[in-house]
Amino acid sequence: MGFRLKGFPGKGTFKRGVHPPERKNLSQDISIEVIPPPEKLLIPLLQNIGEACKAVIEPKQEVVFGEKIADADGFISAPLHAPLSGKIAKFAMTTLPNGRHVKAIQIDAHKEQVSEDALWHDMFFRDWPKDVYSLFSSEEISKRIRNAGIVGLGGAAFPTHVKIKYNQKKSIDALLVNGCECEPYLTTDYRVMVEAPEPVITGALFAAMATNAGQIVVCIEDNKPLAVKAISNAAKGTGIKVAVLKTKYPQGSERHMIKAVMNRVIPLGGLPGDVGVVVSNVATIAAVARAVLYEKPLTHRVVCVTGGGIKRPANLLVPLGMSYRALIDYCGGMTENAARILSGGPMMGFSFTDLDMPVTKGTSGITVLTHDEIKRDKETACLRCGRCVDVCPMALVPARLALAARKRDVEMAEKYNIMGCLETGCCGYVCPANIPLIQLIRAGKAMVMTNRKLQSKN
Ligand code: SF4
Ligand code: SF4
Repeated sequence: MGFRLKGFPGKGTFKRGVHPPERKNLSQDISIEVIPPPEKLLIPLLQNIGEACKAVIEPKQEVVFGEKIADADGFISAPLHAPLSGKIAKFAMTTLPNGRHVKAIQIDAHKEQVSEDALWHDMFFRDWPKDVYSLFSSEEISKRIRNAGIVGLGGAAFPTHVKIKYNQKKSIDALLVNGCECEPYLTTDYRVMVEAPEPVITGALFAAMATNAGQIVVCIEDNKPLAVKAISNAAKGTGIKVAVLKTKYPQGSERHMIKAVMNRVIPLGGLPGDVGVVVSNVATIAAVARAVLYEKPLTHRVVCVTGGGIKRPANLLVPLGMSYRALIDYCGGMTENAARILSGGPMMGFSFTDLDMPVTKGTSGITVLTHDEIKRDKETACLRCGRCVDVCPMALVPARLALAARKRDVEMAEKYNIMGCLETGCCGYVCPANIPLIQLIRAGKAMVMTNRKLQSKN
């Protein structure tokens, strides 16, 4: 459809970045399906950036759908709620996609559960009035968002009430609702926008009320015309604008979206609030509408299960805590040539092997790639071609960062600003020497973090 950005100071795109094959056609036309409730769930106590929760229930206790099961005192945290009715079986350990081992609560499900139709209605097809946002104070909106345990569903898992609140120190003039979903393959946000645009619009009005943002812009890439149409129709009469941005990876990064729409540059190490903007993902904003209007907690999320290695790609509404294995089985299992399983998409996702890992609030998708889709040859020495530098959207020198990580050289990693890396994967995508740049850079960042912690203790 071509990108259009009339009335905004930005140019609708950003410098550098890459154009990987989109492959969204595998799942983009498949409606969201509510997955039948499983027999058990394993709910990790850490599902957000920040503090882990502490259980507020005991083994053998009965819980009902939506009941709070864990909470934390810290501001940067979000409580957890039972995604179905059942009995607390035990506490156990589980692994997250980033390899971290965390405590979890196992719930054994009761036979009787809310029907799939009722669940779908509960999530997306209630009344979504657009004229009631001013009835709620900023504090009340933030409080309801926190009570509902909402975190960024685009993958960042940052507690939403921390972003969506009135901040006396930082004046906010714009709320950008992120519907770019620039990660190849994934169609989670796309389906939410196409099938449930109304809660996105209502949630955006609440978020703008809470942050005092005078303008609301829903940002969508130009490869999603149906989403642009659905959101534009739902937004009629509200003053909410839709910005259609050029399809390029990583257009959905907050920093690059703000530049593309508002022509504002977040300082290095800064946040969107530093330039007067709050950014929140479309599915998160839909959850905000449900939390504020109906005081409903976040118990489910849409997960896109896709890739050439999946027999029947799907977009599924899933209870948190369901295993990746159960989702893959529900989609007919993996094809014979399946070669790699990723939590997330191929650019920023984490490769994993433990299929018993549970879905968390940050699970935007599961991508199973075939050998053909990976097509990686053997790693060779760096050719010093500079391609990684040409595409890095943060203007870093990825080859140097990878070298610093290999040499365990903290000073060099800091000098080349490894913590400025957004882990977009653009560098590894173009590297002709097949150097696993993003994996090395992630290891380098962990090394720097450990060093900083040690230094602060001394
Ligand atoms: S160095 Fe980081 S931000 Fe730059 S391209 Fe590589 S992964 Fe992306
Ligand atoms: S793209 Fe790969 S081969 Fe080229 S400079 Fe970067 S790390 Fe070296």
